[in-house]
Amino acid sequence: MKIYNTLSGKKEEFVPIEPGKVRMYVCGPTVYNLIHIGNARPMIVFDTVRRYMEYKGYEVNFVSNFTDVDDKIIKKAVEEGVEASVISRRYIEECKKDMAAMNVRPATHHPLATEEIGGMLEMIHTLLEKEHAYVAEDGTVYFRTRSFQGYGKLSHKNLDDLRSGGRSLLVSGEDQKEDALDFVLWKPKKEGEPYWESAWCQGRPGWHIECSVMSRKYLGEEIDIHAGGEDLVFPHHENEIAQSEAANGHTFARYWMHNGFLNIDNKKMSKSLGNFFTVRDISEKYDLQVLRFFMISAHYRSPLNFSAELMEAAGNGLERIVTSVENLKFLSGNTKETALQEGEAQLLQEADGYRAKFEEAMEDDFNTADAVAAVFELVKFTNTHVSPQSSAQFLDGLLERIRTLTDILGLIVDKK
Ligand code: AMP
Ligand code: ZN
Repeated sequence: MKIYNTLSGKKEEFVPIEPGKVRMYVCGPTVYNLIHIGNARPMIVFDTVRRYMEYKGYEVNFVSNFTDVDDKIIKKAVEEGVEASVISRRYIEECKKDMAAMNVRPATHHPLATEEIGGMLEMIHTLLEKEHAYVAEDGTVYFRTRSFQGYGKLSHKNLDDLRSGGRSLLVSGEDQKEDALDFVLWKPKKEGEPYWESAWCQGRPGWHIECSVMSRKYLGEEIDIHAGGEDLVFPHHENEIAQSEAANGHTFARYWMHNGFLNIDNKKMSKSLGNFFTVRDISEKYDLQVLRFFMISAHYRSPLNFSAELMEAAGNGLERIVTSVENLKFLSGNTKETALQEGEAQLLQEADGYRAKFEEAMEDDFNTADAVAAVFELVKFTNTHVSPQSSAQFLDGLLERIRTLTDILGLIVDKK
């Protein structure tokens, strides 16, 4: 199985740390609103990766966090006059409903940042001890970026270029940094904000530290795959690597996978452009299976454009599979023949060729676009070779073959 690794910029053969097991971490959403269809892309893509790994016999420990303390959550809480936890809990529940409707399976663990503060304090202490971090006068703890040799290795950025552009990275209130590239591990609370006690100040964690800590707690110091959208490569994942490798003293994640962005009518999705859709908005117009099918019809690393025409095409494509499955079920329920008839065993063997094609596509960096094409070929083959005279064993054999592949893609192909 080959995976494109952002770290090396190449497709690499997948070799797990422990044979038969996969330790995978996917950065999850910040929960201050209903998830939008851009957020749905990594969920669907990496759920499909997980399903394929499981189909291949791996035991997958799949961890995905909810960022439940953040400026945007606090702002919303102030607007509504409630505690931040009311906002985050509400949108975690709503997110889980959307995930279920897209047939995205719950992770093995869904840790919450606010429940892992102890681990974050511990890692920050280690970084301070190792002099990879320092405390500023106001109690902010910064990571000393230049103390980490490998900084820039994931995003392929040169530290000197970053540093010369770094002055502009300084934002107000951060003038106590030693270097413009240093980033926050812990920051003092502001009036009315949620906070935790620490040795440095009453405050809250920076965003990056949560993933380093949760990944270590649930998966161990070294993991197989770390994933998220491509916007996370820099600085989020670069900073996660710096924290984890500086604290633990060895490699953090072996394979880094990043999905391309979802755009709308070829433009960046944004509220100000009025082209912003939540998964809930889309569910009012389409079955969310169509959204899932639309997402996996493209390769996960390609940019993907969302439009009404493409969704209609996805709907028609999915319908073709559903119709074939319904036909198989109907014929199987009505046929008088049970055992395989002449030629049918041969045809089933031929049908297995499409599964081989499907696997070949998936093993090539999860090329779901080609995998979907193999499913369509199997459907076409099925429609050509079945009739009311077919045996039940033949019909059920084809049905099972289609289902195996559509299950890996997470598609529900039974009429509702
Ligand atoms: P956020 O809540 O912004 O941290 O996003 C959660 C996940 O959604 C991250 O993996 C992001 O990279 C991903 N994401 C956000 N917007 C998009 C988009 N338009 N297309 C694809 N992925 C996105
Ligand atoms: Zn993360």
